[in-house]
Amino acid sequence: MDELNFAIYGCKKCRLWQDAKHGVPGEGPINAKIMFVGQNPGVEEDEVGRPFVGKTGKYLTKVLAENGLSREDLFITNIVKHKTPKNRKPFADEVAACLPYLLEQIRIIKPEKVVLMGKTAWLTPRFNGIKYYEVVHPQAASRFPKMGKKFQEQIKAIMR
Ligand code: SF4
Repeated sequence: MDELNFAIYGCKKCRLWQDAKHGVPGEGPINAKIMFVGQNPGVEEDEVGRPFVGKTGKYLTKVLAENGLSREDLFITNIVKHKTPKNRKPFADEVAACLPYLLEQIRIIKPEKVVLMGKTAWLTPRFNGIKYYEVVHPQAASRFPKMGKKFQEQIKAIMR
């Protein structure tokens, strides 16, 4: 995993590194049973090189805690490892360039469940033997009450 992280820190496979301060590989136990995958790091994540530390991350952490899940118990990352300009959706070629990193993380961690948050993360190819769940992105969930309700129901259902 360390080698993979170093590869991400120095990666120039797509244009996104040019606008970013840090690569954000993701964090969590290497033997996590559950992985959460979002779209891309934001400005706050880029500042510190850690995933989901901003407003959306705080919301996600709260919803997970309400469902008995501690951030420390799961591996959390994004389908794209550098922030995007003005937090725009990653382009298809950026997702394609970055995807091998996520797939390698899944191969190393071998989780039982992978929760894909938001439509961009839903593009992740699936491995046999792992349960995948598609949920709304917590950023949308934190902003729109209807989406928030749906997100909370989805997380509750996964934990059941
Ligand atoms: S977003 Fe991914 S593919 Fe693009 S430069 Fe960063 S690590 Fe490399």
